[in-house]
Amino acid sequence: MTGPVRFEGRRERATAAVVGAGLDGFLVTPGPDLRYLTGYDPPPLERLTLLRLAPGSEPVLLVPRLERAAAQAAGGVAELEVATWADGDDPYVAAAALLRPGRWAVTDRTWAVHLLGFQSVSRDSSFVAAAAALPGLRAVKDADELEALARAGAAADAAFEAITARAFAGRTEEDVAAELADLLRANGHETVDFTIVASGPNAASPHHDASDRRIRPGEAVVLDFGGFVDGYGSDITRTVVVGESPEGFDRVYDVVRRAQQAAFETVRPGVTCAEVDRAARAVIDQAGFGPFFIHRTGHGIGLETHEDPYIVATNEAPLREGMTFSIEPGIYLDGRFGARIEDIVSVTSDGARRFNEAPRDLRLVD
Ligand code: ZN
Ligand code: ZN
Ligand code: ZN
Repeated sequence: MTGPVRFEGRRERATAAVVGAGLDGFLVTPGPDLRYLTGYDPPPLERLTLLRLAPGSEPVLLVPRLERAAAQAAGGVAELEVATWADGDDPYVAAAALLRPGRWAVTDRTWAVHLLGFQSVSRDSSFVAAAAALPGLRAVKDADELEALARAGAAADAAFEAITARAFAGRTEEDVAAELADLLRANGHETVDFTIVASGPNAASPHHDASDRRIRPGEAVVLDFGGFVDGYGSDITRTVVVGESPEGFDRVYDVVRRAQQAAFETVRPGVTCAEVDRAARAVIDQAGFGPFFIHRTGHGIGLETHEDPYIVATNEAPLREGMTFSIEPGIYLDGRFGARIEDIVSVTSDGARRFNEAPRDLRLVD
């Protein structure tokens, strides 16, 4: 499916989900949901842009009049009814015409000022977060989306190969992070989202921000980086050691690697997110490091780096073919070191496919 047909299909599925959730409609302001449903990607602004999906009514896209041409140029807007409001007018008065009293799902990215505006003109309505009311709307990817995610994964793998061909010892974390960002761009990323470079004791903090700390021989370094290729996210973690491993590190790394593999092998349609989390956690618990696995096992990825499905112990939602998410167990030992291995995977009919093929053998760098 390509072009307008693809977006129409998505809007139909979203509207069916609205019915299934017992809601009266879905209000979509700029962000990944709007991009997914219309191909239109305006910056989130104080000026209101709103897609209204409601069962039994045609979808309507309300835009500032000055943005109408830009909106209509988007791939999935051609088939849509477009309404406008004029600069200087109250956009919520225009929105009120679209808001019959009822229960509405609202995109998670909706600015509070817009939601307050909806509430002010539709006092008999109630509003719920789409994440809670319509979970997993974008979770199952189509073939084109899977290809884009595979390209993003391969590009991140190439950046890993290139960065580990360079010396680490004596460089600052910030310096390595800047080079990683360059390598992601050189390998086809249109944007770089994050470049975690966490050396020595800094790696015990899962989201450590690269600092001016100099990397020394005998340290482990966690590299966790990603961005977007053709609108779809990459996110990979590898942990490397500079010259030789610190005391006790090799055992920890082996446990993390086995945990990551155990979770990977658990993935198939029908298995719950919680079961994937448990598979990773069981290996780490058995080795005695359970209290040091302080991060969730994974998160969905697509138009956003973090989205449904979340791979956590409390998520009993079953996996479905075409879902894509990270598997990223880690062990974090305060004051010493950390180790994490992360791949993006997709659920296939009989198992899982990795989008990251960079080797998981412990890599030594200079
Ligand atoms: Zn994280
Ligand atoms: Zn990551
Ligand atoms: Zn991740």
